[in-house]
Amino acid sequence: MNDAHDPLSALLGKRIYTPGPVKMSARTLALGQVQTPYFRNRPFSELVLACETWLLALANAPAGSRVVFLTASGTAAMEAVVMQLLSPDAPVAVINGGTFGQRFVDLCRLHGLAVQDIGVDRDPLSDGHWQAQVQGAQALLVNGHETSVGHVYDLEATGQFCAKQDMLHVVDAISLFVTDRVDMQAQQIDALILSSHKGLALPPGLAMVVLAPRALARVRPAGVSYLDFAAHLRDGARGQTPFTPAVSVFVQLYDRLQGLMAQGKAQVWQETARLAAHFRQGLEGLPMHPYARCMPNAMTAVQVAPHLSALELVQRLEQEHGCVVAPNGGALAEQVFRVSHMGDMQVEDLAFLLQAIRAVVEDGV
Ligand SMILES: *Cc1c(COP(=O)(O)O)cnc(C)c1O
Repeated sequence: MNDAHDPLSALLGKRIYTPGPVKMSARTLALGQVQTPYFRNRPFSELVLACETWLLALANAPAGSRVVFLTASGTAAMEAVVMQLLSPDAPVAVINGGTFGQRFVDLCRLHGLAVQDIGVDRDPLSDGHWQAQVQGAQALLVNGHETSVGHVYDLEATGQFCAKQDMLHVVDAISLFVTDRVDMQAQQIDALILSSHKGLALPPGLAMVVLAPRALARVRPAGVSYLDFAAHLRDGARGQTPFTPAVSVFVQLYDRLQGLMAQGKAQVWQETARLAAHFRQGLEGLPMHPYARCMPNAMTAVQVAPHLSALELVQRLEQEHGCVVAPNGGALAEQVFRVSHMGDMQVEDLAFLLQAIRAVVEDGV
């Protein structure tokens, strides 16, 4: 097979600015080169238990919380929460501000739940006007950062509302953790959904659900599902998983969390905030601007001026400059593209991208 037809040569060697996977550190990459170890033994159990302890600390989970580790992408953790914590007896409210909100709606319906679909467009939710649409729901499901449009919600506000209504507060923080503030106690989060290949900057393969005591009390009895929380919690008590986990990603997770614990999470937020500010400042001289009103540190969704094509810009950034940014789908495809600030991103990486954008725009796109 010659190089022109080799998918590897087309895939590798690019600069990556997508909201998952994200740029990984040299340490994480080096750990990706080791032989996958055997795992039904004491050292691996100790590694898993340490990962659980550190994740609970980084999320500021309340006492008695546990972590379920699933070998899957984040969507499986979203579906597992729907299957394992929610009951068909009462409706579920979903904040639906884009692709990921819609995914929660679809998963709930698939599993026979009645959905109160709260459609929003870049609404911070800080004032209570959306709350009238929630009636007698058992849970509120919200993607803390709706990654399809780069918008963040006020999780203090949604948490306070859930606590008052005695509803479960389920938060998909996949593209907030660890670049933005996530605090299960302050934000009164009962179930927190995470995955390995966003802010944690590891390869895809692990999804995690942090369950606070209020969520643990709702876990269904053990069945036979791959996503069964009860079985994961039972085996997790001794640092094991019911089925073969993504062992190599666990090894990288251990190293990454150890580093985050040493560095301090506030430090990581601040560093990512600085990168995001640098990028947004760099946009100022260009015919484009941020799309969302409330932006996370993790990512910037960029809206181009009406005479430009975002899709063409995305294609030319890759073809001519080796920079992979994320296109948008649907109605926003021609207007919006997305740039991640997660992972081992440096100011130079963003400067390179800004220069590439400038070159494509000046050349005419
Ligand atoms: C990336 C992401 C997911 C998970 O998507 P997968 O393709 O399953 O990894 C879920 N929710 C949000 C908000 C995300 O950004």
